[in-house]
Amino acid sequence: MHDLEPTEHHVLNPATAERIATVAATTRDEVDVAVRRAAKAQRGWAAAPPADRARLLRRFASAVDAHTEELAATEVREAGHTIGNARWEAGNVRDLLNYAAGGVERLSGRQIPVAGGIDITFLEPLGVIGVIAPWNFPMPIAGWGTAPALAAGNAVLLKPAETTPLTALRLAELALEAGLPEHLFQVLPGAGAVTGDALVEHSGVAKIVFTGSTRVGKQIMAKSASLVKRVTLELGGKSPNIVFADADLEQAAATAPMAFLDNAGQDCCARTRILVQRAAYDRFLELLAPAVESVVVGDPADERTEMGPLISAAQLKRVEGYMPTEATAIRGNAPSGGGFWFPPTVITDAPADSPVATEEVFGPVAVVLPFDDEADAVRLANATEYGLAGSIWTRDVGRALRVSRAVAAGNLSVNSHSAVRYGTPFGGYKQSGLGRELGPDSLVAFTETKNVFISTEA
Ligand code: NAD
Repeated sequence: MHDLEPTEHHVLNPATAERIATVAATTRDEVDVAVRRAAKAQRGWAAAPPADRARLLRRFASAVDAHTEELAATEVREAGHTIGNARWEAGNVRDLLNYAAGGVERLSGRQIPVAGGIDITFLEPLGVIGVIAPWNFPMPIAGWGTAPALAAGNAVLLKPAETTPLTALRLAELALEAGLPEHLFQVLPGAGAVTGDALVEHSGVAKIVFTGSTRVGKQIMAKSASLVKRVTLELGGKSPNIVFADADLEQAAATAPMAFLDNAGQDCCARTRILVQRAAYDRFLELLAPAVESVVVGDPADERTEMGPLISAAQLKRVEGYMPTEATAIRGNAPSGGGFWFPPTVITDAPADSPVATEEVFGPVAVVLPFDDEADAVRLANATEYGLAGSIWTRDVGRALRVSRAVAAGNLSVNSHSAVRYGTPFGGYKQSGLGRELGPDSLVAFTETKNVFISTEA
């Protein structure tokens, strides 16, 4: 079966459907060689003085910073991200590396009081980490796993998505230019079922950090069980944007569009279920319609563009497949012609249990559903197998806190839509994932705790 996999992948510009590069796929044998080399490099890296490792990671961060424009331009061309977002994404990798570098010299164990001696713990690196990234945020998600794993003394093998390998490959070059040891951070492009699977199956890979679909995440978790391999899973979402009648409706309606249209809706945290209290429903829709219709959709390289194309023809087909044959909808604009374009769409009469209201569309599509009171809002918000993110709009602080505690999701924001910061933990409840990334504990997730007792009575 594996012989049928392509030996190379064409990278297309999603705004034009034109080929911009062809990248060789990494075979299973090449993965094996990469793991062996990484293991060797990791031993040297873990033994190096912590201050030296921190300095090298900061140099890597500076190299990324110096190449922000180049990396951003590549992200625009291979992923169709708007240039503003793409610059932020390159900056995010820089910030992740600097933040992780700050942890290298602070990654300490504990001394625990016990009878008859001294008890100390060590946080030891796991070894070789496999990071499997999706196409929707190629640079930041590569960085989420890579930066803390390196900082904790591990080597990293990064497998980017088939459609978006270019920024990852460039990051590996920049790491070498910055002075990171050879083979410590390698990028292995290729098919998920071959290159990704080889990392999952390899006994020399201690942990898999996977971001992608819930379907593949479950497969990886099941396969990893046979080796008791550690996994962190960041999976899908169907996040609510809960608007209470006492909220600042103007602000809630003005921000609701980009909360599900950013990255053309190909965002696991996209607030695609807009839940509005019945008393404010009509007014909210009046405000929402012009906000959706005025979103600027077009050439992602244009500074004024707010939303670009979908990643691929397959993704476009998938999104189109979710459209009910007859729907009442607010629709924005989209270019026609080459590229994978779909307009901003808000469906206002979708049944709460219909596929478009319950499944992750991963496109610029949201539904609006009414609710009666706080209990009803919480019930609707939690009526999903996912639990990644959510927003709560209300002027009542007590309600904001009650609802934040009641919604089963890992990343909630009140009167805003921000979800992912490198300094705060990120991850999902329920089928949105397992484990947490980012934040103050991000390095610890790439260590084993070793406990050592030293007798003082001998
Ligand atoms: P995907 O699961 O198809 O692919 C993700 C990555 O896994 C790719 O690199 C792919 O090549 C690889 N892969 C595929 N099959 C594999 C296998 N059998 N073994 C090992 N690796 C394999 O997902 P996608 O289409 O690339 O990304 C979209 C999905 O990712 C959405 O469902 C979205 O919600 C999710 N996502 C989640 C988060 C999060 O943090 N929770 C972030 C971004 C994207």
